Amino acid sequence: MKQDYVELRELLLAKREELAVRLARLKKNLTSGRSADSQEQAQELENAEVVDALGNEAQLELSRIAQALDQMKHDHYGECVTCGEEIPLARLKAYLFAERCIRCATAEENRLDR
Ligand SMILES: [Zn+2]
Repeated sequence: MKQDYVELRELLLAKREELAVRLARLKKNLTSGRSADSQEQAQELENAEVVDALGNEAQLELSRIAQALDQMKHDHYGECVTCGEEIPLARLKAYLFAERCIRCATAEENRLDR
């Protein structure tokens, strides 16, 4: 692994930790007591859906983190998927999951806009 990425790896690991804690808390809330009142039950169901959405988001981010860590392990992290150039560290720090260098990302956006 490139020395430059040590700091980014720390960031990813910290983020993963934070997400794991958040997910655990969400699950705990989700499984805590059910009330008998039907209106409250409806409210709880709604909350459960929100929690579900938040959970999915956290899961998605966790899988992106896992992917980035895996790429670091295999020395593919920070490579632009389009041109294969190294993505500048400053960009990676701002966008930990950046897949493309700025040039290719801009080109891709323009392509999608059309
Ligand atoms: Zn590129």
